[in-house]
Amino acid sequence: MNTTDVRWPDSLWAAATPPGPDLPELIGMQAADVIVIGAGFTGLSTALHLREAGVDVAIVEAAEPGWGASGRNNGQVIPTLSRPDPDDIIARHGAVGERFVGMLRDSASTLFEVARRYKIEAEQEQAGWVQPVHSPGRIKIAERRVRQWSNYGAPVELLSREQARDMLGSDAWYGGFWNRTGGHINPLALARGLARAALGLGARIYARSPAESFERRNGKWVVKTAKGEISGRSLVVATNAYSGEFSKSLVPDIATEVMPVLSWQMATQPLSDNVRKTIIPGRQAMSDTHGELYFARYDARNRLVTGGAVIGPGNKAERLKARVTERLQRLWPQIGEVSFDYVWNGYVGMTTDFLPRIHRLGPNAFGWTGCNGRAVALTIPLGGELAKAVRGVPEKELALPFTEPVPIVAHGLLRKLAPLMLLVYRRRDAREM
Ligand SMILES: Cc1cc2nc3c(=O)[nH]c(=O)nc-3n(C[C@H](O)[C@H](O)[C@H](O)COP(=O)(O)OP(=O)(O)OC[C@H]3O[C@@H](n4cnc5c(N)ncnc54)[C@H](O)[C@@H]3O)c2cc1C
Repeated sequence: MNTTDVRWPDSLWAAATPPGPDLPELIGMQAADVIVIGAGFTGLSTALHLREAGVDVAIVEAAEPGWGASGRNNGQVIPTLSRPDPDDIIARHGAVGERFVGMLRDSASTLFEVARRYKIEAEQEQAGWVQPVHSPGRIKIAERRVRQWSNYGAPVELLSREQARDMLGSDAWYGGFWNRTGGHINPLALARGLARAALGLGARIYARSPAESFERRNGKWVVKTAKGEISGRSLVVATNAYSGEFSKSLVPDIATEVMPVLSWQMATQPLSDNVRKTIIPGRQAMSDTHGELYFARYDARNRLVTGGAVIGPGNKAERLKARVTERLQRLWPQIGEVSFDYVWNGYVGMTTDFLPRIHRLGPNAFGWTGCNGRAVALTIPLGGELAKAVRGVPEKELALPFTEPVPIVAHGLLRKLAPLMLLVYRRRDAREM
């Protein structure tokens, strides 16, 4: 058994990360107290927390740990959602929304603490996370975020235009929202580290074993794969934006309540020391307020890891290289020549209101989706809450705002059209300036 059977994206993370653990496939009849489907951050964190509580748990993963969004993302550790702020979350979910806000507020620190506790080497840097604003009018967003998050005890600050310029090494932005608990990691290294930690505590992980379906049989959950099946008292479905990737009939309601939108990531050549010291000198993670998001962070080799979006025909990677080169040179003229050593992509699960969806799927069965590109940090404590849910902790103590799945009507058609939203965002961004 080895990891070479799985096709990894041509990502910086796949190139830079030592291989994950050797894992078996699911073959024949197996049993566990809790079955988790999907070995991304959510599934791995759920399993880790269950093992910490002494619960028998087995993960069934279609490919390998970190193969989905968890191993492909930008690695920004961000303790907020993309758009909804605490008041929006609490207006929607009441008391449980407040508990969710508390979990989100602490999520970046939780991630770094878990990595420390299990000695996971994932190039982690708790250098803070900044959301600079790209137009004078957008400073209102930063002010609102600072006000609301301060009310809930988050260590956040409003940056003036000068402070944003000093922090980012560019005067392209007009101030910003700053949270010092954020930062960045090598996400694939974190996923593989979590997998090792969970295995070390006695969890089982079956790899290269796509779950085809699950059902209730004799009071238990039974998950079927091509070569075997596993039964258990409880079930956590942690397949997120990749829910429809391997089996359309696994969780169709969850698969069709988010739009899986392709997000492109790219890593430059390592920057020279002199240049690096002038571009985001404090090594913070940065995602701004553009609809067509500008984002960047350093990896451990001083590559800028950034990305973008592109639609239409032609070689998308080459078109993106040209577009993002122009952007980087505009933001930081001192960067000089730019080349990209890695370009890859992954699916971000978008919901219409940018809120995540967390569900009860039946007796002792739970699932979630809708990361909206902001759940590297969130998935770690979320796994802890899902572990509590399967252990029978009362709902009034959980930070899980449950809703019923609401599939998007005409999902297939809208999925084809969704990339066109980029044109709307570009127009809006241009108009604001
Ligand atoms: C390109 C990109 C950039 C992003 N950047 C950031 C960022 O910088 N900061 C941030 O906070 N968030 C970011 N995100 C979002 C973040 O990556 C996700 O929120 C997070 O990784 C979700 O983890 P997960 O475990 O829930 O899902 P995933 O990591 O997607 O895990 C789902 C797993 O389920 C498995 N699976 C699917 N179907 C089956 C099946 N039938 N049987 C068994 N297993 C199955 C998949 O193989 C996969 O391993 C980004 C996402 C993408 C795609």
